[in-house]
Amino acid sequence: MEAPLLLLQRLMEAAQVVTSNGNADGNYQYEIISWFDSVSKNAAMVQTETLGQILHLNYGVEYLKKWFGDMKIQDMDACALESLYASLVPLASHADFEPFIQRIADGDTAPILTQQPITTLSLSSGTTEGRQKLLPFTRHSSQTTLHIYRLAAAYRSRVYPIREGGRILEFIYSSKQLKTKGGLTAGTATTHYYASEEYNIKQEKTKSFTCSPQEVIFGGDYKQSTYCHLLLGLLFWDEVELIASTFAYSIVQAFATFEEQWEEICSDIKDGTLSSRITLPRMRKAVLDIISPSPCLASQIEAICRDSKASNWYGIVPRLWPNAKYVYSIMTGSMQPYLKKLRHYAASLPLVSADYGSTEGWIGVNLDPCLPPEDVNFAVIPTFSYFEFIPLNKKKQDLTSGTVGYIEDEPVPLSQVKIGQEYELVLTTFTGLYRYRLGDVVEVAGFHNGTPKLNFIFRRELILTVNIDKNTENDLQLAVERGSEVLNKYGGELVDFTSHAEVMHQPGHYMIYWEIKGEVEERVLGECCGVMDASFVDHGYVVSRRTNSIGPLELCIVETGTFNKVLDYFIGNGAALGQFKTPRCTNNHILLRILNLCTIKRFHSTAYN
Ligand code: AMP
Repeated sequence: MEAPLLLLQRLMEAAQVVTSNGNADGNYQYEIISWFDSVSKNAAMVQTETLGQILHLNYGVEYLKKWFGDMKIQDMDACALESLYASLVPLASHADFEPFIQRIADGDTAPILTQQPITTLSLSSGTTEGRQKLLPFTRHSSQTTLHIYRLAAAYRSRVYPIREGGRILEFIYSSKQLKTKGGLTAGTATTHYYASEEYNIKQEKTKSFTCSPQEVIFGGDYKQSTYCHLLLGLLFWDEVELIASTFAYSIVQAFATFEEQWEEICSDIKDGTLSSRITLPRMRKAVLDIISPSPCLASQIEAICRDSKASNWYGIVPRLWPNAKYVYSIMTGSMQPYLKKLRHYAASLPLVSADYGSTEGWIGVNLDPCLPPEDVNFAVIPTFSYFEFIPLNKKKQDLTSGTVGYIEDEPVPLSQVKIGQEYELVLTTFTGLYRYRLGDVVEVAGFHNGTPKLNFIFRRELILTVNIDKNTENDLQLAVERGSEVLNKYGGELVDFTSHAEVMHQPGHYMIYWEIKGEVEERVLGECCGVMDASFVDHGYVVSRRTNSIGPLELCIVETGTFNKVLDYFIGNGAALGQFKTPRCTNNHILLRILNLCTIKRFHSTAYN
């Protein structure tokens, strides 16, 4: 058998060749798919070697020295190193890395986390914990983004081939790029990627081009960028092969904007002008350089919009872009609540759920583009990072622990995961994170060769709790779904939601904030409130509600546009629309102030009266 290190080297080199060389033809697709077949068949060994490579590359960095001391790991066998690593280096959270990352941000150039100097830092979207995290970003990060993009594209094109030279209407946005005290650039990971050489390579090699120029993506004002994305997408209507964004939220947000601004967009298309909404000079110039008067196109679009408006914009996407083959975006996890609206806009156009990753690193690829987003799973790419899995077993009744009701077992490597088991993911990355707890809970759905396919379940820290109750993002999502079914029955529509566990007053209780569309009677909203309260089946919650140690659930209806204010608050703090996820549960004071100031109606559940 080939020596493991040689095998890994060969697979890594093959990866480089397929991502940098290939053209968009079938041969390239065959190459990248057969590359993934080989790494996934050898997943266990590839993982051992990936860890060896990360540790050899970063031998002697301050963080590792803390645990390895002066141990000479270079001569060690990869398998022995894997066991030693797990026994010496502890599991860590972002808080453990924060002081090291802060020193890098402040300009310390010593080899702290990696031997190669880190010159760029990423800001996580921060919408999950209410606080943005700084994380290292290196060339490896952009390379893996390009790599997973091309791998996923190869699988997609087997079922939904797209025309070479076509366009993608991409709702993508950069964040503000900040300079840290030490002069490093900090921005969201997607922003770094759009600015990287890899992003250009992706367009050239896949021969699919974004409708908007860099000036629109990097404009820095998401409202102006959205207007221009829509305008240019319509101008290139017959060339658009797919509609995409990083997270589904951005597409829903864009079409909500379109419902409001379509007449203005049509008038710009007719006259070759640009609305005075677009005030950023570079964006204005770049767009004006592309557009010219197209009165025929404008009147066709106008006719479609008038007609669509009458049916509440059902199927607007395929009507405006008849050559589009599918809509592509992350639709799982906290994006699921937007699926209904997305399906409404997309009608019969397939929705293809995009891959699984985080600012810390990419994790898995969707190999079955035909699956509906609710059923999608992600095959782990074993060359990207070293992955460990903390087995999580649900506690029967947890009255004491502060964490979600789980018993954690010892982490296991990728080769030892079991189908049906839930795990928390742990990453060791090429960018200098060692045994880093990502905080995501996944379930092993099956295997692709030797690599696990993961269902994303939820983020661990997102939890509603007052006393002995524990409800996760999933539980909340289910309760909200039940409540919104009642709302839909009476002609209302849920636009967005979040929640808060109010514990300042006794007894504490859950508050759920809803922004809705359409007129519904108060009686109906009261019913929605009761249905949600009764839908939390967590034993701790039910017992506490019965004994009134948790008070009635409160439904707060916020005025139209409130969740746009929430979005603006995050964008103002450096988030990007492209990576935005509405926090489903919040304790953030500023956010709560916005929500409470915008509350126009309150209902208290009578479910347990
Ligand atoms: P951020 O790094 O702030 O952009 O957020 C990364 C987080 O988004 C991950 O840790 C997941 O919780 C979530 N996420 C990313 N990709 C997916 C996906 N395909 N499905 C569900 N959740 C995802």
